[in-house]
Amino acid sequence: MQMEKKDIRSLTKEQLREFFVAQGDKSFRGNQVYEWLWSKGAHGFEDMSNLSKESRQMLEAHFVINHINVDQKQQSADGTVKNAVRLHDGLIVESVLIPTNTRTTACVSSQVGCSLDCTFCATAQLKRMRNLNPDEIYDQVIAIDQESRQLFGRPLSNIVFMGMGEPLMNYNNVQKAIDKITSPEGMGMSPKRITVSTSGIPKMIRKLADDEVKFKLAVSLHSAIDEIRAEIMPFSANFPLRELRESLEYWYAKTRSRITYEYVVWKGINDDQKSIDALVKFCKYVPCKVNLIEYNPIDDGKFQQADSEAINNYIKCLERNDIVAKVRRSRGKDIDAACGQLANKS
Ligand code: SAH
Repeated sequence: MQMEKKDIRSLTKEQLREFFVAQGDKSFRGNQVYEWLWSKGAHGFEDMSNLSKESRQMLEAHFVINHINVDQKQQSADGTVKNAVRLHDGLIVESVLIPTNTRTTACVSSQVGCSLDCTFCATAQLKRMRNLNPDEIYDQVIAIDQESRQLFGRPLSNIVFMGMGEPLMNYNNVQKAIDKITSPEGMGMSPKRITVSTSGIPKMIRKLADDEVKFKLAVSLHSAIDEIRAEIMPFSANFPLRELRESLEYWYAKTRSRITYEYVVWKGINDDQKSIDALVKFCKYVPCKVNLIEYNPIDDGKFQQADSEAINNYIKCLERNDIVAKVRRSRGKDIDAACGQLANKS
């Protein structure tokens, strides 16, 4: 039986060096291969032109390169680009390039489907198929960086983990990808330009704090009332707001990094004064800002964006309490690339 070949990109640089030494070759070959894989984005061993033919064949015999392929690109009227990304096993995730006047942001996926069950989100309907591995996450970023340079003449400036999946349910791989993105051998991007968004898993938020991560944290709150939150985000019944709040206090005590709450206001669900008061109270526990995001309908008609009056009420009450709040318009709606719309429709 033929042995299954290993994905060469699961090896560290040190392991690559050791591999070459074990083959009776020089250790610096490992550095060369590492550079081909991570800085030059090689898709095949034949691309590695500074290696001898024998070395390339030897690599071919032992390893595969499980790179991603951007299958399909769609561009929105507002400039937003959505990539359908085919993985080595045929599964597909989506990632998005969001250009503004001052930034170009990559919105990347961390899982195929999602572990959680938010009732207003199209990705949740896909269920979780599997976690992405670190280089599948890293590759999405590289692909978008290249697109950004081609289309807008500038490199990527920011990354948000707000695509498909719950990043904290695939934390190890997300962390490894971020290590690569921020390391000088990868993209050398500052972790301050990276935001990881979570639906709010207290145990994992504490772990991030313990690990002293340097990226920013966003929490999809949507309600500061347990009963309402449990209805729209059923998994959260296991994580009462008190626990979430304590984990966020812990996070802030360790990192001193302000949290962003993402919040959609829906008609008849959280557009009343009681919901507003609960949010204002919740915002006082830990330094934060609030992004009121526009609802992007996902076709089942159960949820409706609240009236602008309700949203203005939110803004008024938050600002009166010195809490920074912004209304975020969605980008890429016409191509189903906006928050909560990623579901491999095409
Ligand atoms: N699982 C993580 C990462 C996904 S981020 C998290 O929940 O934070 C996607 C963001 O879009 C989340 O804030 C999510 O709550 C929000 N969202 C999901 N469906 C949406 C929809 N239909 N309209 C607007 N925002 C939505």
